[in-house]
Amino acid sequence: MNTTDFDAIVIGGGAAGLSAAQALGRSLRRTLVIDAGAPRNRFATHMHNVLGLDGTPPLELLDRGRAEASDYGVEFLAANVVTVRDAGDTLVVEALPHGAGAPAEGDPAPVAMAITARALIVATGVSDRLPDIPGLADGWGRTVLHCPYCHGWEVRGGRLGVLATSPASLHQVKLIRQWSDTVTVFAAGLGGLDDGTERALAARGMRVERDPVATVAPGSAGELLVTTSGGASHSIDAIFTAGSLRPHDGFLSELGLERTESPFGSFITVDVTGRTSHPRVWAAGNVVAPMATVPMAMGAGAGAGGAANYALVEEDFALAGAASESASA
Ligand SMILES: Cc1cc2nc3c(=O)[nH]c(=O)nc-3n(C[C@H](O)[C@H](O)[C@H](O)COP(=O)(O)OP(=O)(O)OC[C@H]3O[C@@H](n4cnc5c(N)ncnc54)[C@H](O)[C@@H]3O)c2cc1C
Repeated sequence: MNTTDFDAIVIGGGAAGLSAAQALGRSLRRTLVIDAGAPRNRFATHMHNVLGLDGTPPLELLDRGRAEASDYGVEFLAANVVTVRDAGDTLVVEALPHGAGAPAEGDPAPVAMAITARALIVATGVSDRLPDIPGLADGWGRTVLHCPYCHGWEVRGGRLGVLATSPASLHQVKLIRQWSDTVTVFAAGLGGLDDGTERALAARGMRVERDPVATVAPGSAGELLVTTSGGASHSIDAIFTAGSLRPHDGFLSELGLERTESPFGSFITVDVTGRTSHPRVWAAGNVVAPMATVPMAMGAGAGAGGAANYALVEEDFALAGAASESASA
């Protein structure tokens, strides 16, 4: 890195961040992507429902995205951003670079690098917290799934399960029926079903298991064995569930950005261009839109990159106008 002053810094190098970086690089903006390198879909071998790239490994898309952005002059730093501070005309981003290694006992804590930019795009994604059931996380992204649009086709017609985590899971329960006639609902998390719903599930041929799930384990032929607290065992091919989502935005706390409460949790508020309540900060992708899939994250990132560039265009005109006025005064 030749300079620590950038036009724009993109925090997060997933689908949203790389799309924003590409838009900024192609706008001739000095742009840095700071990325911790752990995209949300890294557990899956292939991604689907991504037009033109269906079946591509998720990490291959990001390799391609980094190469394309690099061709437009975008720079990269493998690091974790720990704080962002407002310094008036710029934002100061503090990041702990990777590869420094853990300090030996008694050594001082690693020092964060400070990098400045006039615009910031936050595209740091979310973490999925799965229900705390032994064995469940082991199959995440392969036999333990959350999104039928991403992976439903691959398990269509199979013996599917839906592990409800709250009354809101009824939506997922009904949805999964579209992909198979053989669906077992692990219903303890639904908290009781009214007669009408119970009748509707039975009418659609869905089996309801009321006891809580105790363990999930792989069987010898690649299937999943789901055991309940009552001792029942169900052999299925894949199970859908919904974890709770945690946006990676704690490093922005000093900016005091406005937030919106939603059924999925508390997320930073953005307008249609991705702009937050801070005029120099945009956010895109899962960090502000938890339901966004890869193409949605790419679209939001490209939009936020363009919006940030236009805000800098306006600032460049305002600064030039002010400079010319004071020169002629
Ligand atoms: C198992 C699984 C399978 C999926 N399959 C599909 C699919 O088939 N098709 C589809 O369209 N969608 C799929 N998705 C959804 C997809 O993962 C998201 O839509 C997509 O990753 C969102 O992109 P993003 O750029 O917002 O976030 P991410 O891809 O999660 O990227 C965020 C990046 O920011 C980095 N970061 C976080 N915090 C910091 C920090 N403090 N400093 C620096 N960097 C940081 C992370 O390490 C990461 O590299 C799947 C999701 C899961 C969980």
